[in-house]
Amino acid sequence: MNYPPGMRALVYTAPNRVEMEDRSHPVAAPGEVEVAIDLAGICGSDISGFLGHSAPRKPPLVLGHELVGRLNDGRRVVANPLISCGGCQACLSGAQNLCSTWRLLGMDQTSGTFAEFVALPATQIYEIPDSLDASRAILTEPLANVVHLFRLLAPAPFFRLAIVGGGTMGALALLTAQRIGARQVLVADVNDQRLSSLRQLGASYAVNTGNTAGVAQAKELAGAGFDIVIDASGSGPARQMAFDLCRPGGQVLLLGMGQQRSEIDFVTSIRKEHHVVMSFAYTPVDFERALNLLITGDVQLDAYTTKLKIEEGQQAFEMITQRPGSTLKVVLGLN
Ligand SMILES: [Zn+2]
Ligand SMILES: [Zn+2]
Repeated sequence: MNYPPGMRALVYTAPNRVEMEDRSHPVAAPGEVEVAIDLAGICGSDISGFLGHSAPRKPPLVLGHELVGRLNDGRRVVANPLISCGGCQACLSGAQNLCSTWRLLGMDQTSGTFAEFVALPATQIYEIPDSLDASRAILTEPLANVVHLFRLLAPAPFFRLAIVGGGTMGALALLTAQRIGARQVLVADVNDQRLSSLRQLGASYAVNTGNTAGVAQAKELAGAGFDIVIDASGSGPARQMAFDLCRPGGQVLLLGMGQQRSEIDFVTSIRKEHHVVMSFAYTPVDFERALNLLITGDVQLDAYTTKLKIEEGQQAFEMITQRPGSTLKVVLGLN
């Protein structure tokens, strides 16, 4: 097969800087397939990379792990970008997210999806129906994280939930919680426009906890505390707030990776017997369930998704880091 000499790629070249470059076309190894990318999503971890906060993302690197694209035969696909070995103890037990040698597109030495083409193992690929719009399908990977965390939590019926951090993950957690029987959902964030998006998406309460009055309001609404609190932010204060809003005997789920280390008032939580659950990524089972939720239309963020061209990558990153407005997801189009 004759490959074109190169491909367009958006390369992370320095903190706060991404630039279009000509990169060599990937070569599919045995067992791999090549995907021509139509749409790539910007994820929180790409944002940490862009800001220079992610140790495994060093320039120069093509970031990105979310994709909707086409195989050589034209079939439309999404791909699970978390590549596991399939043979270690974790993989054999069905916990591929804990594989001893996992790698992710757009991290370490593995080139990402902010490019025209990517090659990855055929086992990572999921075909999607024509009825599923690319701007919805791009949510498969972030939604897989949410499916996974609710599987770990296994909430009891009619649970009361609080979500700290109203970005993509917080919004998807809200929509998923509504489908699995949450009685009430409070979302806490520090951005008013985002909070109004989350209110429109059905949050029972959306509170700006960027000031002391807001924090007091969230605590008042918590009453004796929420059954489950998800930290979808990962900043130190957000993590502590997750514990503060949780009822005695309730579950605190830590998802956000904003800060590598932060302090928690452990003694107060010990006295409340908080159950701490940490959630990382997803397994192939979660990925497939997430895709099904998008195919059936149970979950979508259509009105809150902003699409830019890959050439506008710098602008897209600046927008999502500095002035996200009501946008909950930014995606990059390759054509
Ligand atoms: Zn992602
Ligand atoms: Zn493994």
